[in-house]
Amino acid sequence: MYVLKVEERFEAAHYIRGYNGKCARLHGHNWAVEAEVAGNELNSLGILVDFKDVKRELKAILEKLDHDFLNEKPPFNEINPTAENLAKYIFDDFFSNEIFDDNAKLSAITVWESPKSSVRYSL
Ligand SMILES: [Zn+2]
Repeated sequence: MYVLKVEERFEAAHYIRGYNGKCARLHGHNWAVEAEVAGNELNSLGILVDFKDVKRELKAILEKLDHDFLNEKPPFNEINPTAENLAKYIFDDFFSNEIFDDNAKLSAITVWESPKSSVRYSL
């Protein structure tokens, strides 16, 4: 199986409701998001899915979050904007994208809230 990975970034503020510690205070992150696409068959050019298409669609999803206050945006006005919830939200938004077909599917989204801390969501 081939696994293709693309990384993009966005900046946004959040806080964690009910958290006992500094994360309960308003603060920001330079979030990095990695999308993984997996499949077995390459096209006639030897490509699983075009990097450029995956980057474009990932950027479009992250653009909706960039330079914003996550706690005010649905669904994060109701659920905490943790890296875990962000990873699933981005995965669900991206999963049904038309750039994917039966062969090439989104297999995971990893959200890095710092260079040393990440969450990977997959089916
Ligand atoms: Zn945080």
